[in-house]
Amino acid sequence: MTSRIPFNRPTIVGRELANIVDAVTRGQLAGDGFYTRACETRLRDIVGGGSVFLTHSCTAALEMAAILLDLGPGDEVVMPSFTFVSTANAVALRGATPVFVDVDPQTLNIDPERVRTAVTARTKAIFAVHYAGVPAEMDTLQQIADAHRLPIVEDAAQALGSRYRGRPAGSLGRLAAFSFHETKNVISGEGGALVVNDPRLADRAAIIREKGTNRTQFFEGRVDKYTWVDIGSSFLPGELVAAYLYGQIELADAINARRRAVWHLYHEALEELERGALLRRPVVPAHCDHNGHMYYVLLPTPDARRSFIAAMAKQGIGTPFHYVPLHGSPAGRRLGRVSGPMRVTDDLAARLVRLPLFHSLSDDAARDVVSALRSSITGGRP
Ligand SMILES: *Cc1c(COP(=O)(O)O)cnc(C)c1O
Repeated sequence: MTSRIPFNRPTIVGRELANIVDAVTRGQLAGDGFYTRACETRLRDIVGGGSVFLTHSCTAALEMAAILLDLGPGDEVVMPSFTFVSTANAVALRGATPVFVDVDPQTLNIDPERVRTAVTARTKAIFAVHYAGVPAEMDTLQQIADAHRLPIVEDAAQALGSRYRGRPAGSLGRLAAFSFHETKNVISGEGGALVVNDPRLADRAAIIREKGTNRTQFFEGRVDKYTWVDIGSSFLPGELVAAYLYGQIELADAINARRRAVWHLYHEALEELERGALLRRPVVPAHCDHNGHMYYVLLPTPDARRSFIAAMAKQGIGTPFHYVPLHGSPAGRRLGRVSGPMRVTDDLAARLVRLPLFHSLSDDAARDVVSALRSSITGGRP
């Protein structure tokens, strides 16, 4: 009846392959060539400013952010426990301590009130994740950050094209990290970008990305030799990856619009089940525009989730759960600490499943997901 529908399927949307051929013809395969620059220019348009540095992953961009902020042993960074490991790794790699706080039950984004009480004299930054492409509550976070003179780093991995009170994700923090991993909206297999919204940090970001050398300034004719001037690493993607990415990034608006269409199809179809208290749908605050990155539902209990995932798998449909909260993970216990209760994180992380959502998913396939979901949840009851 239902065909096999994976959770994610990376799709060609435009000129990705032609761009790769063109990149090879241009004769530069290393990074920071024609397609790297083209991607950075387009990203800058989407974010509406800042200096954009293409990276080989969002993980790399977050690591660059941690270096730029001079995080070190004894420093603390407040972040949600409900996030991907890279948010915390970037901090732990500098010898600093991730301080995990709970999330808001409506959006699953970092709870500003928990941030307020987590800040200590050791706090050096706040890392805010825009979960499911829905921006975190940035105005309140910014007030707290300003009161303590702290920078905010946006983990905008999932939020390319999203907006908070009309302002683009990626423009809201001092620094912001995007991902182009194949599970995101705009993809290049692996890929990412760092947005630097503080002009004083831009030159150093270029150095950190180039193994701690002033290679960029040398090629711009700003220094007469290129040398080792700071710590850094190889955070730059090659041109082939950038060429693929440019084919996608040109069509970012259309990609996001298609995902939002499927998102709304799910949202409308599941309203009745929510009214019957069989699941809870995502909540998007009125002042946030999301990019259709993810459609998740919250089931009543962890047991209900376990049998739901199994029932959907039996019908050939991939509906994975998501983050195992970092505060309870082996590395999180060793390298981080918890501030305040984790009630919401522990509860919701155990009941959340994600529905298939990718560019080439047809409306018909999405309707198949809905009918399989309905029969899995109601156990065949109408
Ligand atoms: C995907 C993701 C990352 C990591 O992105 P990569 O490009 O795979 O390094 C980091 N943080 C969040 C919130 C993510 O969703």
